[in-house]
Amino acid sequence: MMKNKKEMNFWKIADEVKRKFFSRLRIGTSRIDYLNYEGYRKKFEGIPAALAEEWDKLKEEYKYTSGADFVRLKGFLYEALFYYACLETQTIFLDAELCEFGGVKFKESPPWFECVPLYDIIPNLHYIWKNNKKNQKVPQIKVDFLVTYVDDKGPLPPALIEVKSSKKAINYKIEELNWQIVAAMRLGFIFQVAYPDPKLKSTYPRSLNEWIIETPCSNCNGLSDDFRECSKCGAVIFPFTIVDARYTLKDLIERLGRT
Ligand SMILES: [Zn+2]
Repeated sequence: MMKNKKEMNFWKIADEVKRKFFSRLRIGTSRIDYLNYEGYRKKFEGIPAALAEEWDKLKEEYKYTSGADFVRLKGFLYEALFYYACLETQTIFLDAELCEFGGVKFKESPPWFECVPLYDIIPNLHYIWKNNKKNQKVPQIKVDFLVTYVDDKGPLPPALIEVKSSKKAINYKIEELNWQIVAAMRLGFIFQVAYPDPKLKSTYPRSLNEWIIETPCSNCNGLSDDFRECSKCGAVIFPFTIVDARYTLKDLIERLGRT
């Protein structure tokens, strides 16, 4: 039987828990025989259950550990599930691309979709301590994933995605979200949040259509369906992104030459 640890700092536990979930994803995807299509899809479908099983094991393992805040730790399960849903979509596009190499003709080429996990050990720039509480003073990104999509018509703006366990969890730190909107804009990216569809019938989301992805609006603090203009209040959220052709190279050289 595993010996329970007694005292651990939350972040130490968080590091272990996140690594365990992501390792489970890595192991799950590397044990697949991709040449056997039906077997491969079936094994892929089994990964969310493996993640849920890992969560049950982790709850048991840290049951008697003082720093284990299971509400916060469960967030890492959702991060892994979101990553799984993205990987699942990515494999469908890759399958189509492989068919194309094999001679199958599509009207439109399969898109390129990719989700890059960002490891969240983030130095705290310009934080001010006030009454024993850290206060953020400058825009900074604290997101979980960078998601990109490109098809025949062109790219969508790169989206920095923060995964939340529920819609309620999003409102928790509205100020931090607002800083992230500014920080994402400075990169030319957009900032969005993802949370499981409240109408979800199963316990955990499995595919991307079981996730809601929305853009927080700093004007009304609501969540918008559209990243340009808030679908709730009409305010402009992201007036431009890195994929908008704002300058030609000639214009840019002229602008830079002026400084
Ligand atoms: Zn709004």
